[in-house]
Amino acid sequence: MKAILVIGDGMGDRPIKALDCKTPLQVAEKPVLDRLASTGICGIMDPISPGIPPGSDTSHLSLFGYDPHKVYKGRGVFEALGAGLRVEKNDVSIRCNFATVDDNLIVLDRRAGRINTGGKEFETVINDYRLKSYPDVKIIFKHTTEHRGVMILRPIDPHPRFSWKVSDSDPHRTDLPIKSVEPLDNTPEALKTSKLMNELTDEFHSILDSHPHNIKRRSMNLLPANALLFRGASVLPKLESITKLYGIRALVIAAGAQYKGVGIAVGMDSIEVEGATGTTETDTILKAKAVLDNLQNYDYIFVHVKGTDNASHDGDLRKKISMIEKIDALLGHILKNAQTNKLIIAVTADHTTPVEIRDHTGDPVPLLISGPGVRVDKVERFSEIDCAQGSLGRIRGLDLTPILMNLIGKTKKFGV
Ligand code: ZN
Ligand code: ZN
Repeated sequence: MKAILVIGDGMGDRPIKALDCKTPLQVAEKPVLDRLASTGICGIMDPISPGIPPGSDTSHLSLFGYDPHKVYKGRGVFEALGAGLRVEKNDVSIRCNFATVDDNLIVLDRRAGRINTGGKEFETVINDYRLKSYPDVKIIFKHTTEHRGVMILRPIDPHPRFSWKVSDSDPHRTDLPIKSVEPLDNTPEALKTSKLMNELTDEFHSILDSHPHNIKRRSMNLLPANALLFRGASVLPKLESITKLYGIRALVIAAGAQYKGVGIAVGMDSIEVEGATGTTETDTILKAKAVLDNLQNYDYIFVHVKGTDNASHDGDLRKKISMIEKIDALLGHILKNAQTNKLIIAVTADHTTPVEIRDHTGDPVPLLISGPGVRVDKVERFSEIDCAQGSLGRIRGLDLTPILMNLIGKTKKFGV
């Protein structure tokens, strides 16, 4: 028996006036999702707990069975792992944005015009940069996509080490100066890390501002990527891997570095799927094919589709509905080509992102589980409203993976 978990990021929604107070899931054409709901068991789920708007990272930890209140140590590490970097236990990982600033470090564009050139050239000058005042740190930098990158501070001399308890330098809006990184506790490690990062802000600004690629961008009337903004400092959470906990082989199929990273952090393997972009342009059939190609080698496959959340943040109702229909097509392709008598399929969201709010909210998400051994209930359609009638009732995100592992016979008896 195998389990596939498909997550439509931010797929949950609220009643929308333009849809006669229906949700996008209620109006989308999704025959496969509805068939799975009618042949399965349904419910609603609080990814973290009722009313708490989850981040994607904390929510995914929870959906894999790890209590984020206990294990979460910031976001940057997931970005680093997802970008293919090796992360060591004393490393501090930090998410970075290339930005455009003026001479007074006032942020003019937080994404440097969403640069799509020069990323690798900038990476070359930042990666392995040596700070004279901090010879005990190795700086590892990797450009990921567009304006995004990730930096690791790796201590060479372990005393004092670095700390993830530091604030962001990213002011999170334009027309404000790059913020000074501040220690968030009283440890010498946090103080040292904040000072070092502030020095890097200045150093990187002067290196990038005069970089030949930025001179070229200016000459083409494009915004230069002349600063790095830091956010989400973090360290590797201490986790027992999901493969050990359940004696399984697990795989993550996701385009976004962060989701790949959470999967890797809990012990999943990760593969690249060409054509899967992590945007609303993604080809979900290629993801379905990747699932089929790997089904023989894995017990638990997690498939992440990001586009539903992107459309929600953009307030783009039509795109959200069409992304739901793309997820339906993904599932249709799997069902048509897999041996379904040995397959548990679960579909849910990591949080609700209402298109009218354009941000994550604390509403529960719909959940369906279909496959052999499942106690079929009377729900016939997959939506926030229909699933609330299902016999799974209302569960926590933390319960999802144990429920799936039980259905594929991978849980151990508690007691005798
Ligand atoms: Zn999410
Ligand atoms: Zn989101």
